[in-house]
Amino acid sequence: EPCPDIDAALKQWHDLISTVQLELKQEESTLSTILSESVAGIFRTYASLLSDQALLQKVELEVRNGNWLPGALRKSIQYFADLFQAMEDPYLRARHEDIHHLGNKLYTTLKGATSLLEATSQLEQIVLIGEEVSISDIATIAAEKLVGIICFSGSSMSHTAVLANALGVPAVMGVGTLKNLRNHERFIVDGNSGQIVRYPNDMLITEFQRLIDEEKQLLSKLSALRDEPALTPDGHEIRLFTNSGLLADLSPGLRHGAQGIGLYRTEIPFLVRDSFPSEEEQVAVYQQVFNAYQGKPVYMRTLDIGGDKQLPYFPITNEDNPALGWRGIRFTLDNIQLLMTQVRAMLRAAGTGGNLHILLPMISATEELNSFNELLSEALQQLQQEGIAVIRPRVGVMVEVPAAISQLPFWSNRIDFISIGSNDLSQYLLALDRNNSRVASRYDHLHPAVIHELDRVVKIAREYNLPLSLCGEMATDPLAVI
Ligand code: PEP
Ligand code: MG
Repeated sequence: EPCPDIDAALKQWHDLISTVQLELKQEESTLSTILSESVAGIFRTYASLLSDQALLQKVELEVRNGNWLPGALRKSIQYFADLFQAMEDPYLRARHEDIHHLGNKLYTTLKGATSLLEATSQLEQIVLIGEEVSISDIATIAAEKLVGIICFSGSSMSHTAVLANALGVPAVMGVGTLKNLRNHERFIVDGNSGQIVRYPNDMLITEFQRLIDEEKQLLSKLSALRDEPALTPDGHEIRLFTNSGLLADLSPGLRHGAQGIGLYRTEIPFLVRDSFPSEEEQVAVYQQVFNAYQGKPVYMRTLDIGGDKQLPYFPITNEDNPALGWRGIRFTLDNIQLLMTQVRAMLRAAGTGGNLHILLPMISATEELNSFNELLSEALQQLQQEGIAVIRPRVGVMVEVPAAISQLPFWSNRIDFISIGSNDLSQYLLALDRNNSRVASRYDHLHPAVIHELDRVVKIAREYNLPLSLCGEMATDPLAVI
């Protein structure tokens, strides 16, 4: 539909942004009373998407081209969502849902639809069901009433799933469209198996109620163990860390007693923007991480883009073999200013109290390590000259390129620790792309060749006294943990 009055529509668009920004603030403060500051911080991600010049200008452009505001909004949201949707990395691809959620929120506010809070005020227990359920929806309804979330599309990597997890509400994502939904219909939402049951009979409900009670008991037993050291019966200590990349998922790790962050993927703060974040912006994000973990070790990885992780504003294309291409440390060393900015930001954010460990992705050659260490010295010197108190962090490498394994002895005087990136290590050892559906079923991090190489790394780490950890998905597989 063409726009009848462009100036009025532009004003309406700017007003809409202010209104929604205010609503997001309110939702954030509602949730921060029941959740930690870091989870409520998801709302700041939305707010930063909203204050992003790229979105603002795209909608303005559409309106100026004669599109009416709802149409301009829909087109612009679709445009940005598509950019993320096209990414291969599931973690990054899931960000397209955030853009859609924000779009829905803008749209419903524009239309002045009745609030979810009013619509649900009479209900005692609520299962939120939708094509996508947004974090705003979750924040709007009374937390004690929310017992389940079902999304027709959406992934377990979305902010919705992260928030549901933090709230302890079972959520099942990507079930496909449910037809003939009625109000007051009963559901079983089994977040453990990722399944839902429609029209459950009484027997099934009793059985699931029993499971819920059992799980509650188990969790309370486990939470009593939370602060106990993780020791095997024969006295080995196993250190349990968490992985993170969103400010929002800082909290579950803390709640379950993580001893630190084993891998903080810095790609995410780079992704929710329309250009590389400035040093100040990065300092602000990293500082929240150190604040949340209060002196516990945080292993921050330098930017690991390329391959299946693409930045919308800096696509690395025209590569026949992206997995073997310009990625990880190879990319950042060729963009030295970018790396310098990031390292300075990490050092500044950690100050003298943050327990910073810098983790280098995709290392395969000694020169890479040397170049990085030179850059680090330079960054430390710069900051000291600027009068900023910083300390030299520990530096370690990810073992994910198989070539790194045989080189570890030669690097032992240059590094402080090793972290095994089992995802890429398995992919490169087996020459198997697990994002390729034709071969994905053959991908196996328990392949004897992988286990053999892990054993080799363990032996080298022992011999050279290098602390060793594992930060790939393998650590979430109970069989692999053993
Ligand atoms: C890995 O490769 O195992 C890893 C942890 O890094 P990412 O999954 O981010 O590539
Ligand atoms: Mg990797």
